[in-house]
Amino acid sequence: MQKFDFVYQARAGRVVFGPDSLQYLEREVLSLGAERALILCSPDQRETGEMVAARLGSRAAGVFNRVVMHVPIELAKEARALAKELRADCAIAVGGGSTVGLGKAIALESGLPILAVPTTYAGSEMTPIFGITEAGLKRTGTDLRVLPRTIIYDPKLSVSLPVGLSVTSGINAIAHAAEALYSRDANPVTSLLAEEGIAALASAIPGIVKDPLDMEARSGALYGAWLCGTVLGSVGMALHHKLCHTLGGSFNLPHAQTHTIVLPHALAYNRESAPEAMDRIARALGVEDAAVGAYELAKANGAPTALRDIGMRAEDLEKAADIASANPYWNPRPVERDAILALLRNAFEGISPR
Ligand code: NAD
Repeated sequence: MQKFDFVYQARAGRVVFGPDSLQYLEREVLSLGAERALILCSPDQRETGEMVAARLGSRAAGVFNRVVMHVPIELAKEARALAKELRADCAIAVGGGSTVGLGKAIALESGLPILAVPTTYAGSEMTPIFGITEAGLKRTGTDLRVLPRTIIYDPKLSVSLPVGLSVTSGINAIAHAAEALYSRDANPVTSLLAEEGIAALASAIPGIVKDPLDMEARSGALYGAWLCGTVLGSVGMALHHKLCHTLGGSFNLPHAQTHTIVLPHALAYNRESAPEAMDRIARALGVEDAAVGAYELAKANGAPTALRDIGMRAEDLEKAADIASANPYWNPRPVERDAILALLRNAFEGISPR
């Protein structure tokens, strides 16, 4: 990397952070110049959605509580129509990446400002990247209109995230920062954010496992997620993200768990080709080797470490290697099909990447 030859693109966005920061919701809606908010949430988080609506009183235009994964186009159309019908002038996405994703699909068409209240560590709220699924294919793109204008990070809303998902979602965030450190367009500012993001999550995750109600740990994880999401929205991702998009998109594997299992193997693949980034990842994790550190972080905190345990079939590994090595993202080490197949086999078995 040429350290002093770079482009750093700051993204607009206002962050309100802290336990109980949801109390500022009405103020933040008004400061967007909005008065009638459509609230979005998943069926699992219906109560949280209703609570947010109650807090806004007459400024809540309605609650759309049927968010599902991967933003199906039919759902996006329904939510867009509802926003129009209710004359909503902003949307509030309360939940994980799937809910923020639906908010983005509304904003893409209508330009409606999005206020995000993230309750997982996925980081979508900090990126201008959208994804919409049509006829079984997820189309992704980048558009500044979808970038949430305001983000309220209230760690109290994340305590209900089950411990298992908290660990995998946290490692999903770490994966953004790890790849940002060896990204082709890495720069000193995003690398600072990435290293701090990894360190915050690596120390918060064991704290959450020990006590899911620990507000210090929950706050640290959400802070790390913010930083990791910021770098995801600023610089290009590489092999790890390509592998996870392949496994999620073509084999329907769960998002955060897939990231958790693949990360150590993607890091091992790039180990020799990005030594400076590996040193920084290892330093942030407090370990000697980045790949082994990522593997141990998952294992020690009860996360899955083998693709075979989350629904991958051995007979699909060859096909996955074909898809992942066709049209690869830029990566510090060239993407070679047979080496990718070996990586996937290790991830399938859950072998430590020593
Ligand atoms: P998710 O949004 O699908 O949430 C997983 C489950 O957890 C849901 O059932 C949800 O209701 C529940 N949940 C969330 N927060 C909870 C809480 N605090 N308490 C109880 N239950 C809670 O999962 P995710 O991992 O946050 O997001 C994954 C999706 O986001 C993927 O589709 C991925 O592609 C997308 N994503 C997009 C970007 C981007 O930049 N566009 C970035 C990251 C992720």
